[in-house]
Amino acid sequence: MEKEVLLYEGKAKKLFKKPDSNELRVEYLDQATALNGQKKDAIQGKGALNNQITSYLFQLLAKEGIHSHFIKKLSKHEQLIEMVEMIPLEVVVRNVAAGSFSKRLGIEEGTPLPRPIVEFYYKDDALDDPFINDDHMAYLGVATVEEREGMRDLALQVNETLQKIFAQIYIRLIDFKIEIGKTVQGGLLLADEISPDTCRLWDAVTNDHLDKDIYRRDLGDILPVYQEVYNRLEKEFSSCI
Ligand code: ADP
Ligand code: UDP
Repeated sequence: MEKEVLLYEGKAKKLFKKPDSNELRVEYLDQATALNGQKKDAIQGKGALNNQITSYLFQLLAKEGIHSHFIKKLSKHEQLIEMVEMIPLEVVVRNVAAGSFSKRLGIEEGTPLPRPIVEFYYKDDALDDPFINDDHMAYLGVATVEEREGMRDLALQVNETLQKIFAQIYIRLIDFKIEIGKTVQGGLLLADEISPDTCRLWDAVTNDHLDKDIYRRDLGDILPVYQEVYNRLEKEFSSCI
């Protein structure tokens, strides 16, 4: 029997690789972190919710022609994915001012943006994932101009489609982060996860937070809120997945 090896253990997931395979098994962990890991708590059930929400969203995106690394859900807290060479960037898309954008530019949280804003952050925990511009990206050699433009286009497409999906379940997509990898053929592929850990999701009626800001800002328990997002997806989309 081929033995699986632990390829990577991060703050939210563990990746396992079988020898001679380009597929990874991902385990979503029952752990919440914020402030680059300085705040950390075990939260039972969170891994399963994020795995199930991500699985729904990747499948719904695929139905709209946006493919990702997702192959299949293996269990409540596990997924099978295609391994890619990750581009060390966090690509953020914003529809409404919030979080670091509001703080940096002094724009009140909740202010709608006339068109989506795409930002790139260099994924490096030791540097606290700094915001970088096109020249930094070229200097660091993390992506070619063509890859950068491809990532920007992909992020905007994901934004448009996710906004429609979330609108159907009465959720406003305020902003989100995605990660993108390169396939063996050299194409860009949407990877990592899309969940309330990586998106700001506000209830369309009350503007209540349905995301990790509950944890970051000590506003209460995240589990019922993540469960609410999952329940809405399940109610609206279970029959078409
Ligand atoms: P972090 O690394 O920020 O602590 P996670 O705990 O979520 O985050 O770890 C998951 C890791 O797996 C991330 O570093 C991410 O870039 C990487 N990753 C996500 N999807 C893939 C993929 N398809 N192939 C290879 N690595 C991936
Ligand atoms: N985000 C993320 N991982 C990070 C940083 C940000 O998933 O390491 C997401 C975050 O959930 C939000 C968006 O990216 O949906 C923009 O985050 P922001 O830059 O406002 O940072 P924050 O206020 O969370 O520090």
